[in-house]
Amino acid sequence: MNIKTPYIWKNWKFIKWEDAMDHNLTHSLHYWTWVFEWIRFYPTSAWPKIFRLKEHIERLFYSASILELKIPFSKEEIIQAHINLVAKSWVESWYLRPLIYYWTGKMWMNPEWAKVETVISAWNWGKYLADKAIDVKISKYKRIHPETADMNAKVSGWYYNNVLVSLEVKKENFDEGLLLDTNWFIAEWPGENIFFIKWNKMYTPEVWTILPWITRATIIQVVKEKLNIEVIEEKISPERLEDFDETFFVGTAAEVTLIWSITYNSKKIDFISWNKDSLSNKIKDIYFDIVYWRDEEYIKWLS
Ligand code: PMP
Repeated sequence: MNIKTPYIWKNWKFIKWEDAMDHNLTHSLHYWTWVFEWIRFYPTSAWPKIFRLKEHIERLFYSASILELKIPFSKEEIIQAHINLVAKSWVESWYLRPLIYYWTGKMWMNPEWAKVETVISAWNWGKYLADKAIDVKISKYKRIHPETADMNAKVSGWYYNNVLVSLEVKKENFDEGLLLDTNWFIAEWPGENIFFIKWNKMYTPEVWTILPWITRATIIQVVKEKLNIEVIEEKISPERLEDFDETFFVGTAAEVTLIWSITYNSKKIDFISWNKDSLSNKIKDIYFDIVYWRDEEYIKWLS
């Protein structure tokens, strides 16, 4: 993956890759005091379209408020900045990463005097996971307890948990890891939410330790409106895995990724998500029709 792109948007200016450097005494580098978003845009029959940009910017501002980062731009300006960056570099880039952080100046833990920086990068990130059904393992690490952090916010500090899981499962040749919460119920995986299917009913972990915002909400709404299927949000214990027929991950980066197997306590449980006429496959097709604007009904989600 080549992430060297010609332009980075920084504080309302386009700067060159070479000029996008920060000091090693940047507050955020030391204390993980930055917030970010993963946003995708897609080539469509017209101009490239950014999927659910407004909702991503809502979350970005919410996350910033948790760290008391005062963004020196309005939500509308940040939305426009993303559109401008796509217009400048869309030929190569299918992925947007806004990042807001405390810059250098003071190194106390309390960051309130540090200057706030706002940057947006765009690069070509194809598929996040392989375009095949994937093998997953339940990690030995548990998802951070919600009393230790605000789990609705996308703050870099929380991601050390995800990095540990990724390191663990890759060593054992799994494609991804799945996290339980500290009460041993299924939470999510390092960057996405999870759904299960049994007899045309859908299930997903309730909101507690998960990051619940964009793709999860999209899927819940769309399966209701298009397939008339209600999603049950509840606690799901790993012992129930064998009851489910299908399962898939959803998220901005991984989109809809079908799961082949989940290994828990050395036992491998297989799913039929990848079967040609599975419900998971149908949902995947619906999702891609929406993001590529082949479905007019959800045009309001494309910028
Ligand atoms: N959980 C975590 C920890 C994530 O980082 C992401 C990706 N932002 C998701 C879930 C899925 O979030 P969304 O679909 O709202 O981007």
